[in-house]
Amino acid sequence: METQVSPNERGYYGSFGGAFIPEMMQANIAELQEKYEEIMNAPEFRAEFEQLLKDYVGRPTPLYKATRLSKKYNSNIYLKREDLNHTGAHKINNSLGQIILAKKLGKKKIIAETGAGQHGVATATACALMGIECVVFMGELDVDRQAPNVGRMKMLGAEVIPVSSGSKTLKDATNEAMRYWIANPFDTHYIIGSVVGPHPYPDMVAKFQSVISKEIKKQLKEETGSELPDRVIACVGGGSNATGAFYHFLEDEEVELVAAEAAGKGLDSGFTAAATFKGVSGILHGSKTLFMQTEDGQVEEPHSISAGLDYPGIGPALAHWFESGRVKYEAVTDDHAMKAGMELCKLEGIIPAVESAHALAALDNLDLKPDEIIVVNLSGRGDKDLKTYLDQLES
Ligand SMILES: *Cc1c(COP(=O)(O)O)cnc(C)c1O
Repeated sequence: METQVSPNERGYYGSFGGAFIPEMMQANIAELQEKYEEIMNAPEFRAEFEQLLKDYVGRPTPLYKATRLSKKYNSNIYLKREDLNHTGAHKINNSLGQIILAKKLGKKKIIAETGAGQHGVATATACALMGIECVVFMGELDVDRQAPNVGRMKMLGAEVIPVSSGSKTLKDATNEAMRYWIANPFDTHYIIGSVVGPHPYPDMVAKFQSVISKEIKKQLKEETGSELPDRVIACVGGGSNATGAFYHFLEDEEVELVAAEAAGKGLDSGFTAAATFKGVSGILHGSKTLFMQTEDGQVEEPHSISAGLDYPGIGPALAHWFESGRVKYEAVTDDHAMKAGMELCKLEGIIPAVESAHALAALDNLDLKPDEIIVVNLSGRGDKDLKTYLDQLES
């Protein structure tokens, strides 16, 4: 099967994607589908986006050769430092891109869903920067678990609405945001935080995050003389940092692309979030993709120690790259990720997000050849995870 980088005109990557939405959301989605490419390709848009990425976010992020980590694996490991972005993760790349787009569409209000609060904080930040009203939907359970990020969003001027339906987590917050959008279709733009949702969101978010692999190519060329590594590794929740890190390598067949999914307590434990290992095809949050389901097709509750990977599915492009074999998937347990995260602290003086620690742990699963060149996308910093790390240290 041929690997698609972009969706076809109906929003499909192979057999995944599309736009499965209620009639009431049709007008909003149609407007986006019609206009997103033209707006994003316009020179004024590019200029504003690139300026903000440089001066506000701090891009390009460094490509750092992790010497002591490389020695351990007898290879050359480079870390793409998305953890050094303003607000601490890759999410800001997408939030800024979408808010500029929302302004061009004449929208007056932004809504977003958030799980751990990283996307909520990035979006609240972008809204403060632009002086636009911001409403963030967050499951009640997550509001309790992620109190510091709730505080940050409030300080940034966002309204945080706790969602008490269902399991009171990310998927319920997503449902609530969609409901709100249906009720307020004209003045509001919905900033989805990953490469999920109805077409054109997966493609739009992929393009905003693709700056990651664009920079990696340039930086690797300067560093090694070749823009191609042997492998690129990234963790997958919905798939936006992985898509950003893979994007410009998808057509370079000699580069192996590795996605680390959260196995949680183990693939067969009933407490997992590994969508390609445990998922089947179905419709989730507006697109056809792979996600974990109960026997009667309901969404199965995911589990991962990292809130950012605690999502039952993956974006449609990632499902397609799994189907086509272009991306290799590895499953990493909670314990394995925690160990790899702690190890990076000691070896390199970098505290990674627990999500990113899954990508680091995947190094153990691979059959590395000596001296190969590997890029690991360090999607975020671990400040938000201190409690999780400290609990582990004490246990
Ligand atoms: C949100 C998040 C993720 C997971 O989301 P993707 O869309 O899969 O990238 C991974 N790492 C960090 C640091 C995050 O904040």
